[in-house]
Amino acid sequence: MTNKPMPEQAKRNNPIVDCCSAPGLLPFEHAMTNMLAQITPVHEHETLTIEAALNRVLANDIVSPVNVPPHNNSAMDGYAFAATSLQKSKTLLLAGRSMAGSPYVGECQAGQCIRIMTGAKMPIGCDSVEMQENCLLDGNKITFAQEKALGSHVRYAGEDIIINQPVFTKGQRLSAIDIGMLASLGIAKVNVFRKLKVALISTGDELKSPGQTLTEGDIFASNAHFLTGLLTKLNIEIIDFGIIKDDKLAIESAFKQADELTDAIISSGGVSVGDADYTKEVLDNLGEIGFWKIAMKPGKPFAFGKLPNSIFFGLPGNPVSALVTAHQLALPALVKMQNAQPIKRVTINVKTATELKKSVGRMDFQRGVLTINDQGETVVNSTGSQGSGILSSIAKANCYIVLEARRGKVTAGEMVKIELFDQYLQ
Ligand code: AMP
Ligand code: MG
Repeated sequence: MTNKPMPEQAKRNNPIVDCCSAPGLLPFEHAMTNMLAQITPVHEHETLTIEAALNRVLANDIVSPVNVPPHNNSAMDGYAFAATSLQKSKTLLLAGRSMAGSPYVGECQAGQCIRIMTGAKMPIGCDSVEMQENCLLDGNKITFAQEKALGSHVRYAGEDIIINQPVFTKGQRLSAIDIGMLASLGIAKVNVFRKLKVALISTGDELKSPGQTLTEGDIFASNAHFLTGLLTKLNIEIIDFGIIKDDKLAIESAFKQADELTDAIISSGGVSVGDADYTKEVLDNLGEIGFWKIAMKPGKPFAFGKLPNSIFFGLPGNPVSALVTAHQLALPALVKMQNAQPIKRVTINVKTATELKKSVGRMDFQRGVLTINDQGETVVNSTGSQGSGILSSIAKANCYIVLEARRGKVTAGEMVKIELFDQYLQ
């Protein structure tokens, strides 16, 4: 998996290395395919109450055990009647009432009507409802102000979901709305794949946790904090190993422990070629890790591979690089490991309102704001300076501006592809 330079012959035979590819850099799509091919989804599952299953991944298909709604019922507070009765007379005799939860027990006869409330079962003998605002009440005589078509204001059994209809599929992540849907089907418990455990390791002598005091040369560590946010949205259990010094033994001990305890390890920092970058050396000894230089910006250095019990993602230390590689590469891999359906990323082509600096060779994930300009056109604006340490460049954004590797500088007015931020970045 090591990203060794490609021999000349292989380059000639490899269609992805062309005039615009950066030599020695792995195209983004290849990194993704290569990585996903090495992910084995979990298969263990457990039964949980639907409330506990929010954001968990369904382990089987679900068909509806009932009709929703279960019976024909009224969509209005008013009077239920047979359309044929109203055709004969505008005034009908009130014979009883049907309330939500206590239906009318008898049968409505010709010339009669039944007081009915929203959600109440349609009485036998009735096929239509008129709202009370259009009726005149005089003792037990109800006069209908207007004609009413057969079936007016009736909600039919099974009109939302019919019994045995497939409603959920294996691999679906359950949203708050889905939990409501399951409840509406009378389902109290579901079978979901087990939760993943992920270790977070931040490396760097200069890092201090928020709340600590900075001494000269220090910075506050941010990577593990937004990673916790991202992973929590995937309902992943996190074991945060905190900040580990740039010390070979300390790093080795953290990785060994994390490998014992978790399904995946995400580290940040120390994956490039600096003097204090020990991650590579340690991981080469512990497992089978590929240190990739990916043709993407931000985020060129990225490590991926396997330790004895877990998979490993080594993110670059710069916060924007760490965030973009985590979101673009680690998340799809973890989603596959969860046995969930892949994340669908929404892309659209729009005009850029601002010039975009870009060099040929890497795929850029620049940060932008999709907006409507004064002429009513949908356009994207760059968030400004795009340095990989500038976290505010992504905090202000609502989309990536995805610029293909072969593309150079983009002038204002050109079309670009944008990828809307999904729920994990919001
Ligand atoms: P490295 O990949 O270790 O060479 O780090 C690259 C840059 O990212 C350096 O400026 C580090 O100080 C910074 N950095 C590394 N880890 C973090 C972190 N957890 N939070 C914020 N910045 C970091
Ligand atoms: Mg470092």
